[in-house]
Amino acid sequence: MPVPDLDESDPCGPQSYGPVPPDTVVAIDGPAGSGKSTTARALADRLDLLYVDSGAMYRALTWAAAAAGVDPHDEASLLRLLDGADLTLQSSRGETAVFWNGRDISAAVRTPEIEADVSAVSAHASVRERMVARQRAMGRRQGVVMEGRDIGTVVFPLASAKIYLDATLEARAERRLRQHRRRGLTVDRGEVLREVEARDRRDSERTASPLRIPPDAVVIDNSTLTLDDQLEATEAAVRRLLAYRRPAAAGRDGELSLRYRIAFAVFGSVGRFTGLRVIGREHANLHGCILAPNHVSNWDPPALGAALSGKNHIRAIAKEELFRLPPSAMLYRFLYAIPIKRNIYDTAAFDRAAQVLAEGQNLLFFPEGMRRVYGEPGPVRNGLGLLMQRTGAPAVPIFLRGTLAPQPGGGPRAPLEVSLAPPIRLHALPVLGRRLEPRALSREIGRLFEAIYREMQERSAERHPFTDWEREAAERVRAAIERKEARTFHNRRPL
Ligand code: C5P
Repeated sequence: MPVPDLDESDPCGPQSYGPVPPDTVVAIDGPAGSGKSTTARALADRLDLLYVDSGAMYRALTWAAAAAGVDPHDEASLLRLLDGADLTLQSSRGETAVFWNGRDISAAVRTPEIEADVSAVSAHASVRERMVARQRAMGRRQGVVMEGRDIGTVVFPLASAKIYLDATLEARAERRLRQHRRRGLTVDRGEVLREVEARDRRDSERTASPLRIPPDAVVIDNSTLTLDDQLEATEAAVRRLLAYRRPAAAGRDGELSLRYRIAFAVFGSVGRFTGLRVIGREHANLHGCILAPNHVSNWDPPALGAALSGKNHIRAIAKEELFRLPPSAMLYRFLYAIPIKRNIYDTAAFDRAAQVLAEGQNLLFFPEGMRRVYGEPGPVRNGLGLLMQRTGAPAVPIFLRGTLAPQPGGGPRAPLEVSLAPPIRLHALPVLGRRLEPRALSREIGRLFEAIYREMQERSAERHPFTDWEREAAERVRAAIERKEARTFHNRRPL
């Protein structure tokens, strides 16, 4: 069973088991008939969290479309139907009860006719956007176990624990057949198998949030497991993942070199002076982790230094141009930063980075490869994924806001914020590594971090809406950044 063992010696934070926090979000994804509903419902019961069956929402819209004579490919009419509707789910011990404008349609949404059309309905990007907003609202109000196709990749990229359930096509079709028969429907085995296969293909091949294994999920293949065993395995995996997410204890500051003490003291006082706010500071006791912030300005590294002030050793990896001219050359040399060439796969830089991580130092690495437009994080380039695959080091997503030069925020113009999320570990690596080559896997990891930055940005905007100054500043730099990107990466083989 590919469930990670709790490794107490892992320097990056696995702590002992404890009670499940009430705001825990468990994401369960997987193909049709992989046992998501049964598992998610039972798990929610055990962990005392709300159970949400996100598939029921897409089924409900498919039912409403059929009832209103709307074509499942007619995106605009589907949106009109959805926007005007009161769609509610009620979890009970049995299947999720689904209500459309107060009418109980729980049984009606689980027929083969609905299953034949639901993938077409759920493939529309705008339909998904609305559904995802509703699903996020549920998970932000209280702890949930939510099951679906894109919960770990799109809806909750920062879920406390992610599980991907899988089983052979035959095992999944057999389960669906039994479900239909229990409901008194007469169905043919071959037809059910073909239907499950076709739906999987449509759900995996669509462009909008296709079914994918989240790189940080634990994958459980339950083809030959009994229901009890599968539940045990899932609960054990979730509890282990939750233990990994608990912040590590502080207390290795003694290793900090004099140069870093000086730099942190300077950055720290500048940070205090400019009203820097650090969110998720409890995740800052890191060792051997990749620190992976979004990048908007040259003020980002000092802001990070201020946020992590006095905590632990950081080695920055920075574009080699910065080592050429003072004053940046002096600062980066002073801090033993590692120069990297950005237009090739810089083997020497990656070797040094791997060594730094193996020594238990943290590595500051900007995964977007260059400064991006303020307010529009991503795309994340392949370097992060390649480094994570090579070193097995966890990466800490960090979201920076308000650092935009020449006048960083920290006042009414914009809040100056550094938010840290718990480290992301690639639990699905053994499974994904068999299916994808390293660059394709890096792309998946990049997508996950893009979703995470967007989510962190949304949370930041909930705390403090974006200001006019920020919007105008973003527009000012957009054209310059686009030109620079073309110069830096254009016509070159992507990392
Ligand atoms: O899980 P269930 O079989 O009820 O899902 C029905 C359909 O809803 C899926 O085949 C898929 O097309 C869609 N779905 C989705 N994203 C989710 C959950 C379900 O696209 N998060």
